[in-house]
Amino acid sequence: MSVLIVGAGPAGLVLALALKRRGIPYRLIERAESRLPWSRALGIQARTLEVLDRLGLASTILAEAIPVRGACLHLGTRTVHAPFPGAHPRFPSMVILPQARTEAILEAAGDPPERGVAFEALRDGRAVLRHADGREELAETDWVAGCDGAHSAVRHALGDPFPGKRYDARLILTDAQVDGLAEGYLNVVPYPLLLGFGLPGGTWRLVTALSEDGPAPAEGDMAPFRRPGIEPHDPSWWSAFSISQRQVTKMRHGRVVLAGDAAHIHSPAGGQGMNIGIQDAWSLARAIAGGEAVVDAWAAERRAVAHTVLRNTDRITRAMLAPGLLAPLRGTLLRLAFHIPALVRRFEAQIAGLNYPPIRD
Ligand SMILES: Cc1cc2nc3c(=O)[nH]c(=O)nc-3n(C[C@H](O)[C@H](O)[C@H](O)COP(=O)(O)OP(=O)(O)OC[C@H]3O[C@@H](n4cnc5c(N)ncnc54)[C@H](O)[C@@H]3O)c2cc1C
Repeated sequence: MSVLIVGAGPAGLVLALALKRRGIPYRLIERAESRLPWSRALGIQARTLEVLDRLGLASTILAEAIPVRGACLHLGTRTVHAPFPGAHPRFPSMVILPQARTEAILEAAGDPPERGVAFEALRDGRAVLRHADGREELAETDWVAGCDGAHSAVRHALGDPFPGKRYDARLILTDAQVDGLAEGYLNVVPYPLLLGFGLPGGTWRLVTALSEDGPAPAEGDMAPFRRPGIEPHDPSWWSAFSISQRQVTKMRHGRVVLAGDAAHIHSPAGGQGMNIGIQDAWSLARAIAGGEAVVDAWAAERRAVAHTVLRNTDRITRAMLAPGLLAPLRGTLLRLAFHIPALVRRFEAQIAGLNYPPIRD
C-alpha cells in the first residue's frame, strides 16, 4: 500500500509522520520550493498537542510556545481578566507558536518533502505531477491524499463544488511591537474590534476589521490597530485578508481523500483550521491502515467535525463583526460573560479542542 500526499502544510506533514509511524510507504510532494517565512495560524490546541505528543514533538513545541493563561477584555483603559482554570490534565488549553515554526518542527521530524513538485490532475486513476523543470510524471499509488490547502488542485480534479459563502468583512492583521496588552492572555477589545496575541520573542499579532464603507488603509498603516492605551509600532508583517467558509460534499472520492483546508475552510475565529487539519491527518493514517471501511468512517466523522467547526466559527464571527447597535453592546455582554465561571470554562474547553473526538492510536 502507498500514499501520495499532496502538500506539505501542517496537514500533509502530520499525515507523513503518522504514516511513517505505521510503516506505510508514502511520497510527500510540495509545489513551493521553500517555506514562507510568515504565519497564518498561531494557536495550537490541547487536543492537537495530544497528536504531537504521539509523534514525540509535544515537548519541543511546549518549550518554544507561549501558554495561554486566560482572556483579557479591554474596555477603554480598564481591563477585565478571565483566567482559565485548566481544562486538560496534561497540556495548556492552547499555546501560541507561529505556524511557520510549527511546520519547521514537523518537517525536521520526518523525511524532507519533494519540493518543486506540483499535483496537476487525475488521469486514468493516476496523479499527473509537474516537476519544477517542466517534466510531467504519472504517479501510481493506492491512495492520493489532497492536503493542498484552500485552493486545492486535488479537490478541483475531483470536481467537488466546495459550497459555502464569503463574508463581506475586510480584515487586516499585523505582527508588531505593542505596548498595553496583557502577556499570556488572549486580548480582546470589543469595540472597535481588536484581537491581540503575544508571540514568542516579544512580538504581537493584532487583528482588526475595517469599517465597510471607510477607505482602505495604506499597507503598513498602524492607525487601524490603535486603541486607548494600546500602541502598536514597528510592524514586521502587515496583511489584508478576507474570510470564507466552505466544506466539500465528501472527504473521500474513491481512492482520493481530502484533509485540512483542502476539505474545509472557515473564519480564523477560535484558531481552529490548522488544528482540525492536523487532527484530520492523524486519524487518516489510522484509517488507511484499517482499510476501506475505516476510511469511509473517517470521512464521515471528520466531515461532521468540520461541519460543527464551521457552525461555531460562523456564530463567533457574526457576533464579533456585528455592525450597528449590536457592536457597542459587545463589551457589556463579554464583561458579563467573563464573570460567569461556567461560561469561561466552556470557552476554555472550546479553544482546547476538547469538544472534538478524542485522539485514538
Ligand atoms: C489570518 C489567519 C489566521 C489563522 N489562525 C489560525 C490559528 O490560530 N489556529 C489554527 O488552527 N488555524 C488558523 N488559521 C488557519 C490555518 O492557517 C490553516 O487552516 C492551515 O494552514 C491549513 O493547513 P493545511 O495543511 O490544510 O493547508 P496549507 O497550510 O494551506 O498547506 C497546503 C500546502 O500545499 C501546497 N500545495 C498547494 N497546491 C499544491 C499542489 N498543486 N501540488 C503540491 N503542493 C501544493 C502549498 O504550497 C502548501 O504548502 C488561520 C488562517 C488565517 C488566514
